[in-house]
Amino acid sequence: MNRLKLASTEPKPVLVVGSVAFDNIITPHATGERILGGSASYAALAASYYAPSRLVGVVGHDFDEKYIDRFRAHGFDIEGLQRDESGPTFFWKGKYHENFNKRDTIDIQLNVFETFRPELPDNYKDSEYLMLGNIAPGLQLHVLEQVAEAKPYILADTIDLWIDIQKDELLQVVSRVDLFVINDSESEQLTGEKNIILAGQKLLKLGTKAAIIKKGEHGAYLFHPDGLFALPAYPVTKLRDPTGAGDSFAGGLLGYLAAHDDTSFKAICKAMVYATATASMTGEDFSCDRLESAGADAIQARSDELLAMTQL
Ligand code: AMP
Repeated sequence: MNRLKLASTEPKPVLVVGSVAFDNIITPHATGERILGGSASYAALAASYYAPSRLVGVVGHDFDEKYIDRFRAHGFDIEGLQRDESGPTFFWKGKYHENFNKRDTIDIQLNVFETFRPELPDNYKDSEYLMLGNIAPGLQLHVLEQVAEAKPYILADTIDLWIDIQKDELLQVVSRVDLFVINDSESEQLTGEKNIILAGQKLLKLGTKAAIIKKGEHGAYLFHPDGLFALPAYPVTKLRDPTGAGDSFAGGLLGYLAAHDDTSFKAICKAMVYATATASMTGEDFSCDRLESAGADAIQARSDELLAMTQL
């Protein structure tokens, strides 16, 4: 596994809990059928460019060894990946509108997710960096109970579905995490605020210690008690499939913090640069393909470009 050379100390492991999926994707230009997806797949792959990834999720009887090998190739610890032979892997089908500016869920089949309970192997419970990827907030709360003593630094992500059907549980998650990451339309849906600054301030009032609101091709805003920070997106020209960019951003960001073992405001700002560069890879091809093949040097080069772009 090739990792970015950042800090001189050994990076702390990043524990990622989320979905592992097969996706069907329809974009204005092409389609992808039964391709590897899921919040945990993207996030753990992105994090593994910075720190060792530990994965907790579930797959079904149809999840061939070749997919597990893709995880192994990135040095994942997959002790926490459960296999449930009683059904197929979680399936999601999404369709993008013209210009990729909107996406609809066309089909969702929970399959083995229906009965899934994320249980952390004992040797994961000391993880100091935890990403609660997009899964039902009730399951995210179940993970939080298991790490109550270890008190890791926690980043949580979600999607619109959970704001619609599990808002109370989601609000409990928001009140208990260090960094809550959400996109702009979801932040409006959750807080009722159209103005992104007011939405960010409201998220902090809901209890998260810091929040990032992503605006797709327009970058991201960080809301933190020590200040406000805004970063443009990396200028991508070859967008093919944006699926998983949000998960890759979150995984890359937490990986960067774990590599430096620093969660200060400044560290999060810098981590956003690397997270943006990492996520920009994901959108350049279907599934996790480009993220997997990108390599640490290309991610470092894009991070340097983005840093240069944002300096006066
Ligand atoms: P993103 O584009 O970052 O929002 O992430 C897309 C990934 O999330 C896809 O690979 C899907 O398999 C996965 N996904 C979509 N809906 C859900 C859901 N309700 N729960 C868990 N994962 C989901």
